[in-house]
Amino acid sequence: MANELNNVGIGTKLIHAGAEPDPLTGAIMTPIYQTSTFKQASPGVTKGFDYSRAGNPTRQALEASLAAIENGKYGLAFSSGVAATDAVIKLLSPGDEVIAATDMYGGTYRLFAQLFEKFGIHFHYVDMKDPANIQTKVNANTKLIWTETPTNPLINITDIEAVAAIAKKAGALLCVDNTFASPYLQNPLNWGADIVVHSATKYLGGHSDVVLGAVIVNDKDLYERLYFIQKSSGAVPGPQDCFLVLRGIKTLHVRMDRHGENGAKIAHALRNNPKVAVVHWCGFEDHPGYQIAKKQMRNFGGMLSFELKNDSIQEVNRVVTSTKIITLAESLGGVESLINHPASMTHASIPREERIKNGLNDGLIRLSVGIEDAADLIADLTQAIG
Ligand SMILES: *Cc1c(COP(=O)(O)O)cnc(C)c1O
Repeated sequence: MANELNNVGIGTKLIHAGAEPDPLTGAIMTPIYQTSTFKQASPGVTKGFDYSRAGNPTRQALEASLAAIENGKYGLAFSSGVAATDAVIKLLSPGDEVIAATDMYGGTYRLFAQLFEKFGIHFHYVDMKDPANIQTKVNANTKLIWTETPTNPLINITDIEAVAAIAKKAGALLCVDNTFASPYLQNPLNWGADIVVHSATKYLGGHSDVVLGAVIVNDKDLYERLYFIQKSSGAVPGPQDCFLVLRGIKTLHVRMDRHGENGAKIAHALRNNPKVAVVHWCGFEDHPGYQIAKKQMRNFGGMLSFELKNDSIQEVNRVVTSTKIITLAESLGGVESLINHPASMTHASIPREERIKNGLNDGLIRLSVGIEDAADLIADLTQAIG
């Protein structure tokens, strides 16, 4: 199915890729195959499935959809975004080195620094706004470059094409965490990345009702190694969760267009608010990554962060607990707007000195702009900031 859809627009792909009507009943939606095992006609003779950790029809439909919408050949679904990241790092061996971005999801940092480091995999962290910084850490052991763009929560932009060229020269793989952009706004494989990772919990699911992760690649050997890890480590999503993400994907383009429109309106409103010191959003023409974002993204998205002029912890706490429509919660990418204090919530696992050094101040507030009416969101923020 993914192959037949190569010459259609992204909206058509999002709705149809991987989702053939059920051959048995004609059901338009992929059924939730809530089964752990499958009848065999004789030992080893199956209809393509033998056990749901190794493969399940609902998951297979989702994996085909994920591959198609990222312009990749192969998709793999995992039980969470961090499980997808975990699978990618398990491609490596003790002694291998990874160059990762300083500014990335806190849980990725925790997995690298507190779990994989003790298995002998070494991580270097560099500011990837300038790809030249990566080169300084390249050596014969460099096997993987890991980046995220736009970054969480500072909305920095990495030039995927430039980093891919460095990775190629170093003989290392490039993995891009594409969660913040989603496959509708950005396709890293098109710019030379080898691996794309998603927390499908966010925009792909889109409704804050499921935790799921994804990996997409083009190379068959890489896919087979990742499939072996998926099957052997077993961090697979259940069929119902796969169904929810399949359903979410069908409206990704419509939602992302509105997230982007609302993001722009709110970013400008915050910038014009006299009590706001700085707004981080990659759609501002004076954002350092604006030209690159324009090159590699379809629109600038609905993720932004800002700092108040009065950034005392009391004032920040007052603002994030004063919104009435926007909810104080971790996560992002759902239809509803969420507000978050990274230093004490999503990024609390990063040591404070590290955080501050990388520009993630105690007063930073992150917004996942939803698809409500922009005027209501602006009014809500304005009254909360006061
Ligand atoms: C949430 C998130 C993850 C982790 O995904 P889970 O589904 O929560 O495990 C990874 N990367 C980014 C950028 C995220 O926002």
